[in-house]
Amino acid sequence: SHWISVDKARSESSIGPDIEIRGWVRTRRDSKGGFSFVEINDGSCFGNLQIVAPAELANYADEVQKLSVGCSVVVTGELKESPASGQATELHATALRVLGWADPETYPLQKKRHTFEKLREWAHLRPRTNTFGAVARVRNQISQSIHQFFHENGFFYTHTPIITASDCEGAGEMFRVTSLDLEMLAKKGGPVNYEYDFFEKPAHLTVSGQLNGEAYATALGRIYTFGPTFRAENSNTSRHLAEFWMVEPEAAFFDLADNMKLAEDFLKRIFSDCLNHCGEDMQFFDQRIEKGKIEQLTAVIDKPFSHMTYTEAVDVLKSTTEKFEFPVEWGTDLQAEHERFLTEKHVGGPLILTDYPSTIKPFYMRVSDDGKTVAAMDVLVPGVGEIIGGSQREERLDVLLSRMSEAGLSEEEYSWYIDLRRYGTVPHAGFGLGLERAVQYATGMANIRDVIPFPRTPGNADF
Ligand code: ATP
Ligand code: MG
Ligand code: MG
Ligand code: MG
Repeated sequence: SHWISVDKARSESSIGPDIEIRGWVRTRRDSKGGFSFVEINDGSCFGNLQIVAPAELANYADEVQKLSVGCSVVVTGELKESPASGQATELHATALRVLGWADPETYPLQKKRHTFEKLREWAHLRPRTNTFGAVARVRNQISQSIHQFFHENGFFYTHTPIITASDCEGAGEMFRVTSLDLEMLAKKGGPVNYEYDFFEKPAHLTVSGQLNGEAYATALGRIYTFGPTFRAENSNTSRHLAEFWMVEPEAAFFDLADNMKLAEDFLKRIFSDCLNHCGEDMQFFDQRIEKGKIEQLTAVIDKPFSHMTYTEAVDVLKSTTEKFEFPVEWGTDLQAEHERFLTEKHVGGPLILTDYPSTIKPFYMRVSDDGKTVAAMDVLVPGVGEIIGGSQREERLDVLLSRMSEAGLSEEEYSWYIDLRRYGTVPHAGFGLGLERAVQYATGMANIRDVIPFPRTPGNADF
């Protein structure tokens, strides 16, 4: 017999004899007419395949009628057109073999619906549920689209280091790396200098690949990195993880306007691919997670994003009658509540905010002529807030050096980075998209812990 996926088997074009399906039982219903209906899912798609298992099967009473949620099976038979509505096909079993049982007394994923919070305790089992299977497939689609989009636009995929000395964002949110056997050193009674512990040099887990990415963009023209990123965010929000995946394109000869256009085209491509290639999963999110998601994303794809400068945004926030917990003053960073108001109530869609005060942004962003603002851009979306942070980079050697000294950064340590301006400097720009924030927005999932397979948050790295 011929093994095909459930996804394939659900299409009429697969109808025929000698078909084999391998998967896990989702439900079983015994009919009085001498057969059972068993729904099988194999992860290849959102939907299940209905198996019609007749009482004539040799193991009908012993095994088929004992199947419960989670059992793994191999079924062979004839794939026929289904008379039932809502499914094109069904498999009429001639043999059903059980590979593994799942004791309904102890298997946690029974029919009873669990909260997402509860399911986080079973991070290893939750991909077997409808919701988390759908999230995993959408996350996969977005990852594929990221590579496709950049390749189609002439960007080279570059790998930047995970272990690094530089704190790109200057936010002090870095995990330290150690190669020392601290126990052994403690036994010897010697002083342990935690500042210098990567083979006697300081090192951290990367918070952004940007600075290294700039080195490749100023050689290859257009590059992107896409990898794990670490931030010691000792807070519990629904949008921060200690380990997340960031996509960071960087392009030589790009200014802020080019960068904004790239970000908008990129996001539109990602979301339209979700709608075009994850139809059933997106239907599920639309109906069960966030009503109207499909319509919302369709509008996002069709309309140009709104643009506003930071200064204009502050004026809007100061003149509204809306009450905020944190007051808004020019020169302070916007809080989540302000970003939500701007995207959800003021423009009703994605918003690109530009030209932030230089005092609240990192040293590498390009300073404006009046010195007060930098060529920064944040892309904000309703429900999630910031999903992209980017900027045109400071390409002028003298300006960069003075920004670095203001920020208290050592020229010696960043000498390699400064070289990029010493030799053949060019205007360039780039941004970072948090993959999980994009998945959150695409799916409507409220908590970032539910869009990454094994979330890393304070105190949570067990499995
Ligand atoms: P936020 O203001 O939400 O803390 P940020 O401004 O610190 O984000 P950037 O340094 O601009 O973040 O990083 C670029 C992108 O990476 C962000 O726009 C966001 O999508 C994502 N990101 C940043 N920090 C995290 C995190 N802790 N967990 C998940 N994604 C993150
Ligand atoms: Mg942050
Ligand atoms: Mg931010
Ligand atoms: Mg940012």
